[in-house]
Amino acid sequence: MFADYGLHERLLKALSSLSFTEPTAVQAAAIPPALEGRDLRVTAKTGSGKTAAFVLPLLHRLLQTSKPQAGARALIMLPTRELALQTLKEIERFAQFTFIKAGLVTGGEGFKEQAAALRKNPEIVIGTPGRLLNHIETGSLRLGDVEVLVLDEADRMLDMGLSEDVLKLAKACPVERQTLLFSATAGERALNHVVSEIMRDPQQLLLNRRDDLNENLTQQIITADDPSHKERLVQWLLAHEAFAQAIIFTNTRALADRLGGVLRSRKFNAYVLHGEKTQEERKEAVERLRQGNINVLIATDVAARGLDIEGVDLVINFDMPRSGDEYVHRIGRAGRVGQQGLAISLICHNDWNLMSSIERYLKQSFARRVVKELPGSY
Ligand code: ADP
Ligand code: MG
Repeated sequence: MFADYGLHERLLKALSSLSFTEPTAVQAAAIPPALEGRDLRVTAKTGSGKTAAFVLPLLHRLLQTSKPQAGARALIMLPTRELALQTLKEIERFAQFTFIKAGLVTGGEGFKEQAAALRKNPEIVIGTPGRLLNHIETGSLRLGDVEVLVLDEADRMLDMGLSEDVLKLAKACPVERQTLLFSATAGERALNHVVSEIMRDPQQLLLNRRDDLNENLTQQIITADDPSHKERLVQWLLAHEAFAQAIIFTNTRALADRLGGVLRSRKFNAYVLHGEKTQEERKEAVERLRQGNINVLIATDVAARGLDIEGVDLVINFDMPRSGDEYVHRIGRAGRVGQQGLAISLICHNDWNLMSSIERYLKQSFARRVVKELPGSY
C-alpha cells in the first residue's frame, strides 16, 4: 500500500483520487530507498510504472522543505519531447493538491516562451538534453539549486547519442544531490560509464526478470529458412492469428522498411517505426494504433523503446533479439496484466544458439510450432 511509505498526505490524497492503491513492483522496490535519499539505478520494462517511482519520492522531498527558491530544485531529463510532455502531465496529476509547479523545456518549441516560463521559477524542470543546455548557455536556466536529478529512459538517451549532453547537465548540478536513473534495458558500457561519472554508490534495482513475465503470454518458435521465407510466414501469421495489435521487431532499419513495403502491398495496415523517423511520425504511429487505423507496427528496438502503447497482443520477432534481456523487453509488450498474449520468434538455423541461451536464461522452453505449407499466395 502506498500509505505504508510515509508519503506526504497531499500525495496520498492525489493517489487515492487517481485510484492508485497498490504500488507496482518497480514502485515498491524504488520508493523506499529513494525516500532515504539514495542514488538509484533502476531497470524495468516499459509500462511498469517507472514515472511514479521517481515522481512520488521527488515530490515528497520538495514538500518537506519550502525554500525561498531561485532555481530549479529538481531536473528531469528525457530523450524526447513526447516523453517529456507525458511526464509533465503525470507530475501535474500527482502534484494536484500541492503548490509545486513544473516547467517543460524541449526542442522544437518557442525558446522565448520557455525562458519566460523559467523566470517564474518552477521547482521542477523537465526537458530534453539539447534544449536544456541551450537554456543554460543563455542563462535562463540555472542548476545550482538542484536537489534531485532524474535521468529517465537513460538507455535511449545514450542510444540517441546524447551522453555528452547528459554528462554536461549532470555536472552543472551540485555534487550534493540525489541522482535517479531509469532505463528499460540494463544497458551496456555507455550506461555504466555515465553511472560511474555522475552517481554515488547507486543501489541497483533490476526488475526485468524472468518471473516478471506475464503468465498469460504464450511463447512459440517457428523455424524459417531465410528472410523471404520469414516474410511469407509473417503474412500467414497476420492473416491467421486472431489479434488486436501486433508489433513485429526487426534488427535493422532496412529490414523494417522492406517488410513494411511488403505488408502494405498486401493491404495490411502496417506502419514502420525506426530511429530515422521524426518525433511527429512516432506520435502519429502511436495515435493511429490507438485509433485502430493501423494494427501492425514494424519496429526496431530503439524505436519501440518508451512508446506507451496498450493493447498489443501479438509480438513477432522477425529477427532474434541480441540478448535475453532484449527478448524479455520485446515480448513484454504483449499481453499486459490480465490479458492474453502471443509471442512468436522466427528462427533461422544460425539463430539456434542464441535461442537456446535465451531459453536457459528464462528457464523455459518454448513450443516449436510448425507451419506446414504456405499456400501459393504467401
Ligand atoms: P513506464 O515509465 O515504466 O513505461 P509509466 O510510468 O508510464 O510506465 O506507467 C504506465 C501506466 O501505468 C501509466 O498509465 C500509469 O498511470 C499507470 N500506473 C503506474 N503506476 C500505477 C499504479 N500503482 N496503479 C495503477 N496504475 C499505475
Ligand atoms: Mg517511462
